[in-house]
Amino acid sequence: GIAKETKNAIQFHDKAMTEKALQRRQMIIDLQKAISSEQLTVVYQPKYTLSDQVASGVEVLVRWNHGQHGFISPDIFIPLAEENGLSSAISKLVVKKSSQELGQSGLLGNKIKHVAVNVSATEFNNADKMYKLTQFILTQSTLATCMRIEITETATLNDMKKSLSIISNLQASGLTFSVDDFGTGYTSLAMLKDLTVDEIKIDRSFVSEIEHDPRSRTIVNAIIAMAKSFNINVVAEGVETAEQLQALKAMGCQEAQGYYLGRPMPIKDLVLHLQN
Ligand code: C2E
Ligand code: MG
Ligand code: MG
Ligand code: MG
Repeated sequence: GIAKETKNAIQFHDKAMTEKALQRRQMIIDLQKAISSEQLTVVYQPKYTLSDQVASGVEVLVRWNHGQHGFISPDIFIPLAEENGLSSAISKLVVKKSSQELGQSGLLGNKIKHVAVNVSATEFNNADKMYKLTQFILTQSTLATCMRIEITETATLNDMKKSLSIISNLQASGLTFSVDDFGTGYTSLAMLKDLTVDEIKIDRSFVSEIEHDPRSRTIVNAIIAMAKSFNINVVAEGVETAEQLQALKAMGCQEAQGYYLGRPMPIKDLVLHLQN
């Protein structure tokens, strides 16, 4: 009867839910272990000045090679980390590893002017956590003078006043501040009115359409013009073709990043890549 079917359906649903919850629980435990045993690694994606196509900096991106599941995307495990209070530990590990690797590479201050790390929304919105991260960065002498913090636009959305003081503190410590995935949140304009940001990174979704979609082109043009008049460095993210690069150059975009110019790579490949 219907009652029995409904009961079975509910039981089945519960079982599937439980399995999912268990998998998730296991994933969190695995992530915790990967962090505490420092198994997370980092790769570096160069950023280029468009006028001369010379690298100006690198972005550090975290990688997790899971024993059973292989590489898991940060788009999956970073939100998991945020929900489980693990973001600060990841940031610290990323700063520590990149500081060691870049310090030994001889690239800093020579081939590279800026090193950017990504910081999660939950971490950014916690002034105490940001203070601690800043202090930790300052103890890593190799990075203290060139570190840039990237925050996605939506992370600053909650509380402008608080964001303003957190950013001022960062900048007073000698760090610079970049707004990632610019144009995807709802705050773009208000943010530029109130916050003193050093750089904005135009989201890949606009860049990927500039050749074929006039409306995306208009948006990119407007972002570039606005950034310039505010004296903010502007970077295009996710450049995958020569045509996109050419279009961005023609629009007066200052810098670009993307697979066409350089993929995220381990330190030894970065050293080779930047030698040429
Ligand atoms: P993001 O900071 O916007 O980084 C750019 C992402 O786009 C990276 O993915 C990069 O590998 C990818 N990418 C770069 N150029 C191209 C391109 O030309 N085409 C395409 N299709 N993709 C490109 P990844 O490394 O998987 O990171 C995804 C996101 O995870 C990052 O977006 C960032 O928000 C977050 N993330 C990465 N590393 C960290 C970290 O250490 N800490 C925190 N909190 N978040 C991180
Ligand atoms: Mg980023
Ligand atoms: Mg981005
Ligand atoms: Mg992103």
